[in-house]
Amino acid sequence: MALADEVVAQIVSRKPFAVLGYSAEDAVWCPRCLRSAAGLSPGRVDTAGRPVVPLYARDASVREEVCDNCERSLHELLAAGRGAPTPQAATAHLRVHGKSSALDFDRVPPIEIRTALKSTGWRWDPRLRVWWSCEEVPRVPAGVVLPAAAPAATPKGPIVRRAREQ
Ligand SMILES: [Zn+2]
Repeated sequence: MALADEVVAQIVSRKPFAVLGYSAEDAVWCPRCLRSAAGLSPGRVDTAGRPVVPLYARDASVREEVCDNCERSLHELLAAGRGAPTPQAATAHLRVHGKSSALDFDRVPPIEIRTALKSTGWRWDPRLRVWWSCEEVPRVPAGVVLPAAAPAATPKGPIVRRAREQ
């Protein structure tokens, strides 16, 4: 708890209006439960027509508040959220073309993943819009999600290859 307080104090020093959670429907909500469980949004009103009130982390009187839905400490949730940001994931399909592997992303992956790709031996191919690795066992960076159904695509391999060589 003491550590969480310290992390929250650091966050408040950078962001004076950092929000711990919200008060609405006569209850306290963490940001996630406000949306998922209560179905409310900050800046709107609750079902009784009263505004959803933000609880600011700098306000000492809300230090001990706990989310009435998930029963977790708002301080600890804020501290945990900032301490270990969840890296953005990107879905890609891995295909093997001879001695090379190609990663084909559904959409442009976030910058952290592009940086990780470059540092693990992948090179961007602007013509085919895929990432290539010539390593025998290509290293797939964390955050790149390969759908489990990938093996089922193997029979299509030659067709894909022919199309890509045009
Ligand atoms: Zn909650």
